[in-house]
Amino acid sequence: MSFDLLVKNAKLPDGRERIDIACRDGRIVAVEPGISGEAGRVIEAGGRLVSPPFVDSHFHMDATLSLGLPRMNESGTLLEGIALWGELKPLLTVEAVVERALRYCDLAVSQGLLAIRSHVDVCDDRLTGVEALLEVREKVAPYIDLQLVAFPQDGLYRSPTAERNLVRALDMGVDVVGGIPHFERTMDDGARSVRALCELAAARGLMVDMHCDESDDPMSRHIETLACETQRLGLHGRVAGSHLTSMHSMDNYYVSKLLPLIAEAQVHAIANPLINITLQGRHDTYPKRRGQTRVPEMRKHGINVSFGHDCVMDPWYSMGSGDMLEVASMGLHVAQMMSRDEMRYAFECVTTHPARAMGLEGYGLAPGCNADFVLLQAADTIEAIRLRARRLAVVRRGKVIAQSDPATTRLSLEGRPEIVDPAAYAPGK
Ligand SMILES: [Zn+2]
Repeated sequence: MSFDLLVKNAKLPDGRERIDIACRDGRIVAVEPGISGEAGRVIEAGGRLVSPPFVDSHFHMDATLSLGLPRMNESGTLLEGIALWGELKPLLTVEAVVERALRYCDLAVSQGLLAIRSHVDVCDDRLTGVEALLEVREKVAPYIDLQLVAFPQDGLYRSPTAERNLVRALDMGVDVVGGIPHFERTMDDGARSVRALCELAAARGLMVDMHCDESDDPMSRHIETLACETQRLGLHGRVAGSHLTSMHSMDNYYVSKLLPLIAEAQVHAIANPLINITLQGRHDTYPKRRGQTRVPEMRKHGINVSFGHDCVMDPWYSMGSGDMLEVASMGLHVAQMMSRDEMRYAFECVTTHPARAMGLEGYGLAPGCNADFVLLQAADTIEAIRLRARRLAVVRRGKVIAQSDPATTRLSLEGRPEIVDPAAYAPGK
């Protein structure tokens, strides 16, 4: 047998050890111990973790890396972020948005992040972001699966031309229908927008992903309408509710009715831990609410939960580095998911779960899947999160597209080891 690429002695996310992965013509052809045969390239994994690529199911690529344009968000709040974005929008050019997005994609690849769902603001009559990100989607297709969501940031009904622009964006080739029901003028308008947008998606055979209830208001219950419309229109498995932060503050009895409705409609939930922990609870004195949605509770109901990055160095968030392990780490901390099982689950929230929410085909580490994966400087998925492990090799369609040296440090301490390898501190080592 001959292969294009053979990975030797890998640990897999499901715990299997000493596994080889053989790739040919851009696909995985075998995943088992002791594969022999000629290979164009061999990667010695040395017992380290090989994972399918990281997936970010909630991002804003039209705004990324614009930090400081035209000024900083001094309060750090969601509303100043939206106001600031409103100031920046008229100044955007297609060229500048493309340039920043491509730079972000370089960073994403270096972090093993090979699939991104990005919302793109359609509340700009020029549709600058849409034009730019459609171009970027094409340019990065060889190395990143970029899915675009038509997002009416200023409200589908609150912004006078949003409805028309959203349809224009879909006609231009944007993949997914977005929304922001909690930002419409009234609860009724919010519910009406959910209905209209789900009907639009059903008519066009598209998926839906709404910013839904990104609020601390426990009465913000648009997720209920989203689940109901998904059920009514038969959109099962094709709809996602992003943020869902109001659920953090909702009445427990109401949530006990709500979660089965979300599960029944197979609506995917996408929390954005870095953003939720910084933007929610801003009207509180003390105690301050965390604002992240109810992740362990949704898991118990069989709801597919993902963690998204949402923002990197933009009007809403000045931090971030395209590292989905940082996102997973914040997610498990905020949700207090500290059992071994829950930490492993957090890794799935930035890999397999968002892949399912985005409907990615050929994703995974099994024969027949795309030969896309990441070799990490870590013994397992929990260690990967703990260390924000270095991506030693990033593979796309059987080709190495990014490589890093292991993160080690030389010590100059008498009587102590010369080298510190953070991955060597794994339990049991
Ligand atoms: Zn968002």
